[in-house]
Amino acid sequence: MTTKQNDEIVIAEALGTSIRIHAARSTQLVEAARIAHDSAATCTAALGRTMTVTALIASDLKQPDEHVRVRISGNGPIGVIRAEADGAGNVRGCGDHMQLYASRADGHLDVGKVVGTDGTLQVSRDMGLKEPFTGTVLLSSGEIGEDFARYFAISEQIPSVVSVGVLVNTDSSVSAAGGMIIQLMPFAGEDIIEAVERVAASMRPMSEYMSEGIEVEDLILQLFPDARILEHKPLRWHCDCSKEHFADALAGLQKSDLEAMINEDHGAEAECHYCRKKYRFTEEELREILEKKTRA
Ligand SMILES: [Zn+2]
Repeated sequence: MTTKQNDEIVIAEALGTSIRIHAARSTQLVEAARIAHDSAATCTAALGRTMTVTALIASDLKQPDEHVRVRISGNGPIGVIRAEADGAGNVRGCGDHMQLYASRADGHLDVGKVVGTDGTLQVSRDMGLKEPFTGTVLLSSGEIGEDFARYFAISEQIPSVVSVGVLVNTDSSVSAAGGMIIQLMPFAGEDIIEAVERVAASMRPMSEYMSEGIEVEDLILQLFPDARILEHKPLRWHCDCSKEHFADALAGLQKSDLEAMINEDHGAEAECHYCRKKYRFTEEELREILEKKTRA
């Protein structure tokens, strides 16, 4: 069942003020990525999980032009997965090879197999300072959720529960997607840790909750009855690539390469890795780029 509910992120605190919760419905976001990349189910799940957690991390950004960028490189057949989200809720993402399918004996998608475990998860927060804040951890399972939990624990020293999932229909379209990050505040005691562990153990997959049509806010309140909802935020698939952006990239090429595009190929085509949009440059446009470069 595909629901028409809009994607959103909800931020809350619970167990007094001892834990912080970020939760998202990301069904439309992941379906938009699936259409852009024409991806197979397992790759849709791998990218969808990555984009969902990236969006949850970015929901803490204060300015619309600040970014969170995630790069997962596990040496698996999908290659490198990239996801980017900004402070306004715009999210985009890609993987090198999105047409692979892998499932386990029980029929579940084998995300760990396409992602691989021989590599790293890197998170960069670009908040307009000179250098982005970047943390990197080794991958543990390649299942994404566990790997992010490890990132929070090791790189940010925040004990966290990360639950993220994508449910795919038999026709490859996305049925439901969602994610939740539960984080312990530094002063949280043993009783709080135990309470969170109990809830985590009782939780069903996020994609299952989302496919049942529960509102994100209601799910938080169901898991933590004393939760105080702090904020609702939007999230959407959006790529900000443009022809100017690719013209700048072409201007950075060697003169001889540009000349070859003009004289041999009589034009060029560039494709955005994130949204797969193609930009065509005519011979004339390439000449202009080359002339500007020569003048510079
Ligand atoms: Zn694009």
